[in-house]
Amino acid sequence: MDARTPVDIKALTHAQLEELLIGQLGQARFRVKQVEQWLWQKGAASFDDMTNLSKDLRAQLAQACTLQLPQVAARQQSADGTRKYLVRFADGVAVETVGIPSHDGSRLTVCFSTQAGCAMGCTFCATGWGGFTRNLNAGEMVEQVRLVGADFGKRVTNVVAMGQGEPFANYEASLEALRRINAELGLGIGARHITLSSCGIISGIERFAREPEQFTLAISLHSAVQETRDAIMPGVKGHPQLEALVDFCSGMLCHVNLIPLNPIKRSGDASQAYVMEPSPRMPEFKSALERAGIQVSVRDSRGSDIDGACGQLIQNLS
Ligand code: SF4
Repeated sequence: MDARTPVDIKALTHAQLEELLIGQLGQARFRVKQVEQWLWQKGAASFDDMTNLSKDLRAQLAQACTLQLPQVAARQQSADGTRKYLVRFADGVAVETVGIPSHDGSRLTVCFSTQAGCAMGCTFCATGWGGFTRNLNAGEMVEQVRLVGADFGKRVTNVVAMGQGEPFANYEASLEALRRINAELGLGIGARHITLSSCGIISGIERFAREPEQFTLAISLHSAVQETRDAIMPGVKGHPQLEALVDFCSGMLCHVNLIPLNPIKRSGDASQAYVMEPSPRMPEFKSALERAGIQVSVRDSRGSDIDGACGQLIQNLS
């Protein structure tokens, strides 16, 4: 890292922050902990907020790094209590993030985005229709989680990288975000309460399986028939999904979630919109999977009245 080029301090890994503070600025190791507490636990909005650092060190940090918190540009609340946020970053790019409280109020799940837009082009997904703008850095992902927790005034208990974007197309930053969300000097959320959802990038699945943490992986199948899958998910066309999944799942605890399609509108191209119908086949699917000894749940779609459910998120650059 070049100390002369200001970098977003929240995009640095723990090791990079150590290199900056200890290696480049000659600070004692405990300063790393102090800075991380300000960044991730106390929500410092500027280096001047870091009052237990010397003025000299705050000035040095301000010279080497930038620190800008994202802003909530819009917020909507669903009848079921789900909240959707348009989160805008320093360069003006915005993504959507969703906060989903459990019905009994004991849990708060945040669904965050890993990319602004998405290049995978799934035909049923509003994000895919909008195209790809840029990758988010790890700090921009973690900030979405912090921001939702602050808005609800509650501790976030569960996190899913299931918003806009394909996390494995932005692997390093997504993994760094999961680690920061999990870390004691981060958000302190247990690895088993952190899920990454992929549309099925095989190299990503293999790499993720080798990571030491017990994060959960969710794969969006959309069709177990390869030809159908290729047609509706062109970004992963030709990936030998089922073989890889079987390999990945063998001997592991796996669970199938059945999620009904959420409606999306595409201006000027309504004929391509999928139609959501009450599905009489859902119970049939569920019992067929159960007969095969596979654990299965039918998932509630939360926040669909504010276009905050799976497949409904858009990037709004206005
Ligand atoms: Fe991208 Fe996921 Fe939408 Fe597919 S479903 S276009 S991978 S955001």
